[in-house]
Amino acid sequence: MPVLRAFIFLGLMGTIAEAAIDTWTLVAGGDLMLNGIAPKTNPLKGIAPIFRAGDIAYANLEIPITNSKTVTSRKSKKDLIARNQFVLRADPGHIAGLAGMGLDAVSLANNHAMDFGWGGVTDMQKSLTRKDIRFAGAGSTLAEAEICSVVQVKGGPRVGFVSFLAFMGDKALWTCSPATAKAPGIATLAFHGTLDKVAKKRVEEIVAGAKKNCDVLVVALHWGIERQTAPSGYQVQLGRLFIDSGADVILGAHPHVLQGSEVYKGKPICYSLGNLISPLPAATAIHKLTFSGTKFMGLQRLGCSISGGKTVLMKGKAAATAAKGYALLDKRVQAVAKSLSKAVGKKLSRRA
Ligand SMILES: [Zn+2]
Repeated sequence: MPVLRAFIFLGLMGTIAEAAIDTWTLVAGGDLMLNGIAPKTNPLKGIAPIFRAGDIAYANLEIPITNSKTVTSRKSKKDLIARNQFVLRADPGHIAGLAGMGLDAVSLANNHAMDFGWGGVTDMQKSLTRKDIRFAGAGSTLAEAEICSVVQVKGGPRVGFVSFLAFMGDKALWTCSPATAKAPGIATLAFHGTLDKVAKKRVEEIVAGAKKNCDVLVVALHWGIERQTAPSGYQVQLGRLFIDSGADVILGAHPHVLQGSEVYKGKPICYSLGNLISPLPAATAIHKLTFSGTKFMGLQRLGCSISGGKTVLMKGKAAATAAKGYALLDKRVQAVAKSLSKAVGKKLSRRA
């Protein structure tokens, strides 16, 4: 959709002054959990018009879309049987549905992209490329996995996407196959929950590198604890560090439920977008972010319900009740942030 151009006409001495305000929207969806859902049921048809109406449409593709049968060796049989770990795969027929909803970019740095190895990822990347859907967060080397994928808003800024898995534990990261200087995999940040000088420098370098090629940088972070509706202190610290370093938007995923959002230094941090589709029923939301040029203007959450493997928009009373819930989630974010600043204050006073 072209950028909306609003004109203000001022009649002064017979002249018309024109001020153009260029606004555009980024429509963001959470985890695409397409396991066990048949493409012919068209699970995203109900919400596709909302994504198509956005200037840029994004979601977290948390599943390899492939026919590969080579399961990752990093998730042990014991853990799979105990259901501590899962390997997921989606029918390649879903690519048509993702293209049909107008997705421009997806993040791949998550704990399922490598479930069917690098072969599964390359299958999926080829299919996405054929449909002109950009991806970030997985590559044949770490350098490739970190590449910023850029989507140009028609008549507007270049929007870049980078994607990182940011779990705290080394074992949890290892099971997801991090890319290395020579080996394929996903882009990871192994900061162990502590943002020291080394971590800060790495974040600054990521942002500076990506911003060479874009005007608005979206950082997709896969983090937090599943089913937790409040972000961890580490999520708040890391999200804010990316903004402090020059990133423009943070879109979080992994908890599979919604977490709140905040505007930090004028930039939006959405801590968890929840699921966009899953075989299990749930309430969720589509995050619609509006910008004027490179400036963030506002966030709107559109309540959705997932049922029977389909996602549809909430209406009327259900949507109004859901909106009240988002305000409560946002309050929880501020409570976490406040507890962090108190902890820092304590540390300082102890030192003093
Ligand atoms: Zn995840």
